[in-house]
This record gives sequence, C-alpha cells and structure tokens, in this order.
Amino acid sequence: MDLPPGDAEHLAARAHRVRLDRKATLMTPGSPINSVYFPETGALSEFVLMADGSAVEVGFIGREGMAGWPAVFGSHVSGVWVVCQMSGLFLQFATTELAAEVDRNPELHRRLHHHAAAVIGQRAISAGCDRHHDVVARAARHLLAARDLRVDNELVVTHEFLALRLGVQRPTVTVALAELERLGAVTHRRGRVTVVDRACLEQITCECYWAMRREIARHLDWLPASLRSSFSDASGAA
Ligand SMILES: [Zn+2]
Repeated sequence: MDLPPGDAEHLAARAHRVRLDRKATLMTPGSPINSVYFPETGALSEFVLMADGSAVEVGFIGREGMAGWPAVFGSHVSGVWVVCQMSGLFLQFATTELAAEVDRNPELHRRLHHHAAAVIGQRAISAGCDRHHDVVARAARHLLAARDLRVDNELVVTHEFLALRLGVQRPTVTVALAELERLGAVTHRRGRVTVVDRACLEQITCECYWAMRREIARHLDWLPASLRSSFSDASGAA
C-alpha cells in the first residue's frame, strides 16, 4: 500500500524494510499481530486452517494491500495464517507504531479503512465464486490476479500453492493447468506457471475477476497510475 505523500518519509522512518522468502510464515491463527506488513515487491497470502490440517486461501496481498489489517481496528490476534507467496521486500510496522500514526494521520486512517472495505468486498465475491464457478475459471482468476501484481509474466506457482489457493486437491490443479495449457493461455514446467496469452486467460476466467478489480479500483483511489491501470475496467466490464 502506498503511504500518503508528504508523510511517506515520516512513516518510512518508523518502519523496517525486510526481505521475505517464499513460504515464510508471518502470522498463524491465534498468534498476536505484533507487526503489519506492506508488500513493496513481493506478495503474501492469507489462509484459513481447517481442523483436519487442510488450508484454503482467502486473501492475496500485493503492492495494493497489507497483512495484519485487523490491527487497524484494534484486533491484535490473527485469525488467519499469513505466508509469503512471492519473495520480495516488505515494509514492517510495529502495530503500536501504526496505531499512533493512524491517530495522527487522517489520510493514512482513510486509506487503511478503505483497504479493509476492499478486502471484505473481495471476500464476498470470492465466496460466491468458490460456490458457483468451475476450477479452470477460478485458476485463471488467481493467475490473472497474481499476474497483475508482477512486472513479468512468469509466476513461481507450484501445484501445492495453487491447490491451497483454490481449495482443491493437487490432481485437480494438474487437470486445470493442463486445460489452461491446452487452450494456449499458460505453460507450466517444474512448478513455474507462465502466462503466454493474457487475453486468452481473460476469456477463460469468470466475471469475479473483473468484479474484484472493480472493488480495488473503487476503494483504493490513491493507487499510482502505474498500478491503478492494472485494475482499470478497460475490458471485461460486463
Ligand atoms: Zn467466479
């Protein structure tokens, strides 16, 4: 998430810039939210954990977002497992520092609240998508969403992670990726999925991908043009 202009230096001076590697765990269900994280170049995922040990992704956090957002509302215990999905750099704020800054800075307060509204709106869309749309369309949605946050076309996505993101077994992911490859949208080799035809992927995905983009564009009005263009409604607006 971009910090408010004019305050960025002040805020950055109170943050630590940390490098996180893929699969690094930041929070677990029930753990205290001691810090929040703003991705600069990497991405994080939020998962709910089931009693049988299975996990389902409920949130994907890139440059537009933050991890630990319930702390903005005074909730300091995580309900989700937060894990690094894409290695990179992240700004880390102690939650105590964040609370003081939110009180001091109305624009930061506004951005964090609007971000939370976008997260809640996206989760509502995702709940409907999981119930009504097939796994190939949902896989295309996840790949497009991840692609929107990268500057290159290659995503380090393993079958294991995609299975977690889709809430399905790995053989189902294998079938879905094979179908996306047959249709010419992606190639995948040794755990790396490469988007080779974005337009094709956009044809395959469901309307939820576009609805989620609109949710981001509607709430996150401060995004820089370079990032905002990723969420503009130029296509698929139906
Ligand atoms: Zn859908």
